[in-house]
Amino acid sequence: MREPKPQEDLQAIIDDIYLELTPRLGEGKVADYIPQLARVDARHFGMAIVTTGGEVYCVGDAEMPFSIQSISKVFTLTLALGKHGENIWNRVGREPSGSAFNSIVQLEHEGGKPRNPFINAGAIRISDLILAGHTPKELIGEIVRFVRYLADDENIVIDHEVARSETATGYRNIALANFMRSFGRLDHPVEHVLGVYFHHCALAMTCSQLAKAGLFLAAGGTNPLTGHSVVSRQRARRINALMLTCGHYDGSGDFAYRVGLPGKSGVGGGIMAVAPGKASIAVWSPGLNDYGNSLLGSLALEMLAARTGWSVFGP
Ligand code: GLN
Repeated sequence: MREPKPQEDLQAIIDDIYLELTPRLGEGKVADYIPQLARVDARHFGMAIVTTGGEVYCVGDAEMPFSIQSISKVFTLTLALGKHGENIWNRVGREPSGSAFNSIVQLEHEGGKPRNPFINAGAIRISDLILAGHTPKELIGEIVRFVRYLADDENIVIDHEVARSETATGYRNIALANFMRSFGRLDHPVEHVLGVYFHHCALAMTCSQLAKAGLFLAAGGTNPLTGHSVVSRQRARRINALMLTCGHYDGSGDFAYRVGLPGKSGVGGGIMAVAPGKASIAVWSPGLNDYGNSLLGSLALEMLAARTGWSVFGP
């Protein structure tokens, strides 16, 4: 890797990263638990950066929609904080789990209270919390509208085939939900809660839409492109803190060490990352590492952080 040159033009930096990674496209293992994800070409690669000043930089397949999967958990957490405030922490923890995203062991030890909102159990609990007063269908509609509002893009939709497939094969998530329910930790029927969870995971977005949707987190809670105030400055910082400590499951420490920015991954191969005060970044490369995080996506962000000097840990 070259020495970082913080002043370098961002477009040149991402063009360069793409070029350097091109021989490696296809590395990693594409998620294969549902056919809709298994059939995605592993050689896709896209990256988008939206700066707090409103400049947009894209490379590769940045305009191709992909399944955002667990990245959606950032948006449902934001909604949950909006509806219930800090009370959500009575229901879900905010500590890194150190275990796989779909692990069940910790749940038993901890009485059915999920470690954090980004592991599957925690996100299922968040879906349950925001279901209060809604039908699943209404809430799914509200989530889609919220994400469209964040990205300022009415074209964002749910891939219903993905949602159906997740529902048909989601044995592990069904187990997690039933397990929490057995501890009295879910307020709504398992089918309703999972209906919401599977649908928000099935949101399809492009890197540029995702980078725009995450921009409020890079800019103190307000999207500078639209002027929409989404959350307070303190809440934006706190969501970033959770992304840094829990956003990559048991690979969160490694991501923080290598990239040094808050980020949230999804099993579709996407990562949304935040350089506070600077930019929001989305990257997509479907091949995953052993923790279920995008292999080349993490590497691309590591290269970007090194070359821009962006880090939450120091100048
Ligand atoms: N829908 C996926 C699941 O529940 C999300 C997991 C992920 O993106 N890590 O298994």
